[in-house]
Amino acid sequence: MTEPKDLRTTGSREENLDPEDWRQLRKLGHQMLDDMLDYLETVAERPVWQAPPAEVRQRLNEPLPVSPTPLEDVYGQFKRDVLPYPMGNIHPRFWAWVMGGGTPVGVLAEMLAATMNPNMGGGQHSAQLVETQVIAWMREIFGFPEGSSGLLVSGGSMANLVALAVARHAGAGVDVRKLGHSADAKLSVYASTAVHSSVQKAVELMGMGADSLRLVPVSANGSIEVSALRRMLHADRAEGRRPVCVIGNAGSVNTGAMDDLEAIADLCRNEQVWFHVDGAFGAWAVIDPQSRHLVQGMERADSVAFDLHKWMYMPFEIGCVLVRNGSAHKDTFTVMPAYLQRATRGIAGGEDWFSEYGVQLSRGFRALKAWMSLKTYGLDKYRRMIRQNIEQARYLGQLVEQAPSLELVAPVALNIVAFRYLVPGADAARLDALNQEILLQLQERGIAAPSLTQVNGKTVLRVANVNHRTRRADMDILVSAVQSLGMELAAQMR
Ligand SMILES: *Cc1c(COP(=O)(O)O)cnc(C)c1O
Repeated sequence: MTEPKDLRTTGSREENLDPEDWRQLRKLGHQMLDDMLDYLETVAERPVWQAPPAEVRQRLNEPLPVSPTPLEDVYGQFKRDVLPYPMGNIHPRFWAWVMGGGTPVGVLAEMLAATMNPNMGGGQHSAQLVETQVIAWMREIFGFPEGSSGLLVSGGSMANLVALAVARHAGAGVDVRKLGHSADAKLSVYASTAVHSSVQKAVELMGMGADSLRLVPVSANGSIEVSALRRMLHADRAEGRRPVCVIGNAGSVNTGAMDDLEAIADLCRNEQVWFHVDGAFGAWAVIDPQSRHLVQGMERADSVAFDLHKWMYMPFEIGCVLVRNGSAHKDTFTVMPAYLQRATRGIAGGEDWFSEYGVQLSRGFRALKAWMSLKTYGLDKYRRMIRQNIEQARYLGQLVEQAPSLELVAPVALNIVAFRYLVPGADAARLDALNQEILLQLQERGIAAPSLTQVNGKTVLRVANVNHRTRRADMDILVSAVQSLGMELAAQMR
């Protein structure tokens, strides 16, 4: 018989994922921090964007690493292959889609959050209090009352999904959680043709089918025709459909158009339909005294979706959903399996678990960057930044209107400018191709990054300014580059 082994002293060596030499990691960590702050400090000196070259693509397509590489070397490859080819959204002349650029405070907050690495699904710990605090601030900003609820989510898409799920739960007329809903229930959601694609995705994911998203025409300025909405609601009801939600746009993604939220709120009250506002970026007009009239009525919504990684400049990912009726919100998602049992004391304490208000159970500590950013900068700073972005957009609009070769294709409602280069006598197809080529060259030459869209069937350049690093001089650079590229390319295309 062999002697029993002493399990404390024999067997394989135990290991963990912390460094063997903390001093060495500390040194490298400090270096990384310095490098990243240098990188941010000098961002304006680099091209907005450059395509990753072939050798970089090749090096970023390597076999699964099974054995270790020293962190110094991995970081070296990051600096060589990853860092020089960014999306561009941290640059002062990036205005494509709607993308914030992040901030140095956000960078540091992400590190602190990752260090604590709490799970924000629930429990009794300080990070829960931080998210609760951020939600309370959001409710105050958006004028949501006591009893309303909120959740930080990955972004506007998830915020819309959560809100629509609550709206359906509240308005389906059957217990959708238990029974699902049958196709002949004909639940329907209303929004303008300018609504964001995430709403269609949400409706599809919820099993309602894309046809249940009823699209209402917009007027010339891009905002929903409220009378058409009313007619559609009535006609649909007469046909046996059951409206569960009307969505108002607070800043349409394409042109920044604002729906008449007050009128939609009145309609929804009369019709007893849930009123949701998609205010991914535009909802933030609420903090600018000169713009807040544009979102008048939003405070009457049953739910609002908005981002903090767009017009609040925080690093991806962070969005938020607010729901006026907090218990309807919780009723939509709460599930209480034995392994998530609550306690009155200990770590599993805490009244309300965030996992009961949304899709995710495990959740990251995105609240910290919001809390730190709001405290560090203060809301007044954000007010000024948003005001500045709006004024810069108007300035760009003026530059475009003053340039004979440029056409402003939609009024500058907020912070989005849609325009194109014109050639007298050129047909529509040639102008579309020309503007597309101007856009590509602006990006490929690293000059500036608008994106491309269609407005009234025309291919146009679109500048969505949620960029805290932009200055008016950057708009000057854009306009002169578009004009000279336009001239150059028009001559070649002749
Ligand atoms: C960006 C945007 C969304 C989606 O938000 P994400 O943060 O990208 O998920 C929804 N609606 C509007 C109006 C948007 O601009």
